[in-house]
Amino acid sequence: MVVAFITALLAATVAVLVWRQRRASRLDEEVLPQETVTAQAPAQLDWLSAEQQARWQQQTQRFLREKRFIGCAGLQVTAAHRQTVAGLACLLRVQAGAEAQSLFPAAREILLYPDAFLVPPLHEAISEDGLELVDDHPDERIGEHGPGQVVLSWADVEAALAGDGVNVVIHEFAHALDSENPNTEGAPPMADYGEWSTVMGAEFARLRRHRRPPVLDPYGAESPAEFWCVAAEAFFQQPAALAKHHAALFALLARYFEITPPTETHPERLAPTGTAA
Ligand SMILES: [Zn+2]
Repeated sequence: MVVAFITALLAATVAVLVWRQRRASRLDEEVLPQETVTAQAPAQLDWLSAEQQARWQQQTQRFLREKRFIGCAGLQVTAAHRQTVAGLACLLRVQAGAEAQSLFPAAREILLYPDAFLVPPLHEAISEDGLELVDDHPDERIGEHGPGQVVLSWADVEAALAGDGVNVVIHEFAHALDSENPNTEGAPPMADYGEWSTVMGAEFARLRRHRRPPVLDPYGAESPAEFWCVAAEAFFQQPAALAKHHAALFALLARYFEITPPTETHPERLAPTGTAA
């Protein structure tokens, strides 16, 4: 399991993993009028050092220069949309030296929907056990990552800012990081995969055994790739709970992101700062 965690070739997994996303849960939720959209800096900025905050600012500006945003289903992309998405995504890339590396090269375009969106049905897919699957119903998604693109539901971006346990921006850009290395699955590019493989492999196996975990989204049991994305979401949205129930995983992610979130008291849901960015 541990060895398999990072050695699966993308060629064998891309069709199954890259496009597999969580089903949407709030299609009926009211979409905010677009004139009410204001840029919000993520509350997690408070966890960063002054140096990291400066790097985050630099990375966010670079993201805005390099990435193309496309509004979908009637959404008119504004500066507020772009700044908010860029700010959340760049929380993943404030490590020392990150500014000298490419920034999400696997996500050149960001497609933004007002809310959860429908994708065409998947025909003639082959399941992991070799069975042919035929699904005639459109699938509801809140986000997905495909070649060169990240697709997001704006309503769910706002939910993440408000403290929801799901952070679709973190999730999909974690997929984008994962896809930068074609020889690994469930890991962003890094120098040493040894400890990563050990900890993530053990925690992934644990989640597959216990389908009702206290912190991690059970969706993470789908695959090592989804586990990495779900773990990253928990790190940024529920750090205290993650540290309490998955200490080794929390420590591993804190070292990777070079971020130490607060873990005292009970900040299991972050309060939004509402700060303009
Ligand atoms: Zn995913």
